[in-house]
Amino acid sequence: MNDTVPPPEVIYVDTHKVACNGGGGALGHPLVYIELGAEGTAECGYCDRKFVHKDHAHEYHDPSPRPEGEH
Ligand SMILES: [Zn+2]
Repeated sequence: MNDTVPPPEVIYVDTHKVACNGGGGALGHPLVYIELGAEGTAECGYCDRKFVHKDHAHEYHDPSPRPEGEH
């Protein structure tokens, strides 16, 4: 358990260059552009969000159930 830092958020993207501003609010930070590496993943140095390219999404095992249900 960790009651001081929220767990990193994983954002799925379909481009190898993403922009992140932390989503505003308490976690907001200056807008930065992040390039996904050859692995198709990158982490924001400001807010620790993890960006995963959709082509690599199958390599990531989501630990939490999908909130919107299945189709
Ligand atoms: Zn960020």
